[in-house]
Amino acid sequence: MTGSCIFCKIAAHESAAEIEYEDEDVVAFKDIYPKAPIHLLIIPRRHIESLARLDEPDAVLLGRCLLVARRLGEAYGMAERGYRVNCHCGPEGGQVVYHLHFHFLAGRRG
Ligand code: 5GP
Ligand code: ZN
Repeated sequence: MTGSCIFCKIAAHESAAEIEYEDEDVVAFKDIYPKAPIHLLIIPRRHIESLARLDEPDAVLLGRCLLVARRLGEAYGMAERGYRVNCHCGPEGGQVVYHLHFHFLAGRRG
């Protein structure tokens, strides 16, 4: 846990968020400024800054994040219609919050 990281605080229930899913390793919560009818953020509980900071042993954790995306897709009844999973990395990738997260976007085309 990194003291000033908002997503670490959300994962630790120290900051408010609408949490839609959580387990030992992964948390998913609603994005505060939704850009689609369904816009969730999927994060590993453990603080990893970005894709650029991933290490080999993190591979399983990343897989778990994507399995949560599948689960959310099913829970929202979007498995067949589909959804988008985005990850912004670094300044030119548009990353604003430096705790690795996947955007889960559904309910809108394009
Ligand atoms: P990114 O770093 O991938 O570009 O974007 C970070 C995302 O986190 C944005 O979509 C923003 O709306 C969302 N976000 C930033 N701060 C908070 C927060 O405190 N709570 C929640 N739920 N979402 C946040
Ligand atoms: Zn963090």
